[in-house]
Amino acid sequence: MEYPPITKPPIDQFAVRPNLGEYDAARQSITWEQIRSELDGHPGGGLNIAYECLDRHLKTDRRNKVAMIWEAGDHDPETYTFEQFTKEANKVANGLRSLGVEKGDRVFMFLSRIPECYFTAFGVLKLGAVIGPLFPAFGPDAVKDRLEDSGARVLVTSPELWSKVKEIRGDLPDLQKIVLITRRKEAEPGEADEVLWDDVIANQSDEFETVNTDPEDYAVMHYTSGTTGKPKGAAHVHNAIIGHYATGKHILDLHDDDIYWCTADPGWVTGTSYGMFAPWSNGATSLIYEGGFGANAWYGMIAKHKVTVWYTAPTAIRMLMKAGDEVAKKHDLSSLRYTMSVGEPLNPEAVVWGEKAIGLPFHDNWWQTETGAIMIANYASMEIRPGSMGRPFPGIEAAIIDDEGNEVPAGEEGDLALKPGWPSMFRTYWHKKERYDSCFRDGWYITGDRARMDGDGYFWFVGRADDVINTAGHLVGPFEVESALIEHPAVAEAGVIGKPDAVAMEVVKAFVALKDGYEETEELRRELKRFAIDKLGKAVAPREIEFLPGMPKTRSGKIMRRLLKARELGLPEGDTSTLED
Ligand code: AMP
Repeated sequence: MEYPPITKPPIDQFAVRPNLGEYDAARQSITWEQIRSELDGHPGGGLNIAYECLDRHLKTDRRNKVAMIWEAGDHDPETYTFEQFTKEANKVANGLRSLGVEKGDRVFMFLSRIPECYFTAFGVLKLGAVIGPLFPAFGPDAVKDRLEDSGARVLVTSPELWSKVKEIRGDLPDLQKIVLITRRKEAEPGEADEVLWDDVIANQSDEFETVNTDPEDYAVMHYTSGTTGKPKGAAHVHNAIIGHYATGKHILDLHDDDIYWCTADPGWVTGTSYGMFAPWSNGATSLIYEGGFGANAWYGMIAKHKVTVWYTAPTAIRMLMKAGDEVAKKHDLSSLRYTMSVGEPLNPEAVVWGEKAIGLPFHDNWWQTETGAIMIANYASMEIRPGSMGRPFPGIEAAIIDDEGNEVPAGEEGDLALKPGWPSMFRTYWHKKERYDSCFRDGWYITGDRARMDGDGYFWFVGRADDVINTAGHLVGPFEVESALIEHPAVAEAGVIGKPDAVAMEVVKAFVALKDGYEETEELRRELKRFAIDKLGKAVAPREIEFLPGMPKTRSGKIMRRLLKARELGLPEGDTSTLED
């Protein structure tokens, strides 16, 4: 079905800004230099994300403005002004310094969305150290891989999450201290290297002079999955704040009176770039909701806090659609003026449903961990083409290229590629320079996505160029799951694919061949599922497991996931000339 373009809200509502609806003119008028000049810069001459998000607002009326509304659903919300927030972050910076943390050290956070998670992130950045956010639904293996690879020096976590993964402690020689936050659960420091937040941070001075970092100093590490190997640490620098600020202003369209809600967890890049950096560098009030998904709970948050700008994800939107329009109609959602989505393809039906059920269409946009900030978007002021990701942000050159690096004609499928050089671009994969270098071809950064561009310059997502699985907006590397499964004594081989799913887009499905002497029983299947959850956590473990007598393999012995997928979907098997006899 063809959907007509959506041209709401009216363009003149945005007249105060260079009008991205008038796209070509906006491309001329927005430059990175001009955006950079809107930020303060560190008084010492450098650039620091925390300085731009917190300290600089203390020189203005925003000092007493609410930066964060924190809502857990089980008691009254807490609010923090920019000044209060800064003071809390300062205590973290002083506390971590007293533990020996220095500029450049990696401090990882394994936390739910509690206020201390946000204070920690900014305290670390103020110190010039590097944050590594971890998704709280990860299991021990997933946490260990990331801490080990990054050489993390300190882990800030909670007693309940730490007890889930504590067994990995012995494998992490670089990890010197574990800071336990007892907001939800009391704890005694157990081992000598475990310390309590209340002892090392809560009583620190709330004064701290943010370290004068260079724009090219590392600031944030996010691990992301590839087709092969363990997840890679995409490293971002303080300069990225120019991109967060710019896209927060022009794509999220944040104004001073906005109440903004980004539903992503900071364990993923959207939750840091757009849950923290973009809103706070723009001085907006941001709602942080610790609770999980629930249609009534989510609509209730919008109504209660009068959210005006809402940034969410396709899986959540599809779940809201499933819950039915009546649930939406029970809540007063009239505060909303602008809604966006990212992370997976947004079905055109979902864009249109938004208009019908909540009165606004969802504006899709595209980016990824490596890009650090939004690259392609259906802007607030421009015509939305339902099903398309939109057009490149001014300053971003995007193209569809072929294997030789040539741009293909409009309408043709190819690799979605970007011209390197934008401020928020990742600077390396941690200790994996070769993998980083392999992302570039003929002067282009190759995103790993396949797409098309239409005659008007709108980009349309086609699929991943590799085997990476996108489940509910989270990338899962099949290799990571296969490696965990074959650690079980019954498993000889495992092949993992993404199986299409109406709500989560894809779910992780594993095919398993057993060793001699093991029987394909329901009990063993359940045991393997549990085994994978215990190792990897629910976010990564397979939802389905199917037994096979053996895996289809190439002559060189590589499992052909492509074939497993084709067979699962009943599709043609394609070229099987390399298949093992
Ligand atoms: P991540 O690095 O975990 O943020 O995942 C990035 C990947 O998610 C992209 O490379 C795409 O495959 C997918 N993705 C993100 N946004 C969109 C979108 N708007 N439409 C389709 N796919 C998307």
